[in-house]
Amino acid sequence: MRDDLLKSGIGMTSQRTRERLLERLFEEGIRDLKVLEAIRRTPRHLFVDEALAHRAYEDTALPIGHNQTLSQPYIVARMTELLLGGRELDKVLEVGTGSGYQTAILAQVVERVFSVERILPLQERAKTVLRDIDIRNVVFRHADGNWGWPQYGPYDAILVTAAPPEVPAELLTQLADGGRMVIPVGEHEQYLTLVIREGDQFIRHQVEPVRFVPLLSGVMNS
Ligand code: SAH
Repeated sequence: MRDDLLKSGIGMTSQRTRERLLERLFEEGIRDLKVLEAIRRTPRHLFVDEALAHRAYEDTALPIGHNQTLSQPYIVARMTELLLGGRELDKVLEVGTGSGYQTAILAQVVERVFSVERILPLQERAKTVLRDIDIRNVVFRHADGNWGWPQYGPYDAILVTAAPPEVPAELLTQLADGGRMVIPVGEHEQYLTLVIREGDQFIRHQVEPVRFVPLLSGVMNS
């Protein structure tokens, strides 16, 4: 990642705020060092509107336009840690690119990321930011992620960052044997859910209550 960007502007002035964020994530139970290091290195302020940049290193969710939100760092860290389960991962499917912040964290801890987003302008902005910070192991698709991205499956892991009422069946079929899916599930009450595939069995664990925007259908071009 480019050091000039990491150190530039707010990146420099907020160094202490960033360190505090890391301490807080540790206190909240995040232990995976690869994940913590990725969060430490990643300039979150580049993924939000300039007017919100001063809040980028608080442990809080932030709006990214189009009625969507960038999850709070704790949730990003927790989901990534659960997805890894201490393993090395090659191919990971992400549904809901959004700002691209979660994508950037993932891309630093796995080999390759395949990221699907239904709102075209969000996808385009995310692509630009990731290119600017020199993250190159991500490919993007503008599509309805309910259908996954069959062409490159099965995936070692699947991360979904918007909540469906039920786990989409098509995503389960694209999960490799032994693979893990992390997904918020539910309408009024949502639970972060870990699904582990064992052959034809899908073992589910409800991890903790969460609040995500809904997983919608179809695509938007503007
Ligand atoms: N992970 C993102 C935040 C995501 S907000 C980040 O770090 O910024 C949820 C995202 O999921 C939004 O961008 C929304 O447009 C997208 N989304 C919702 N339903 C979708 C679907 N069916 N397919 C692909 N993306 C979807």
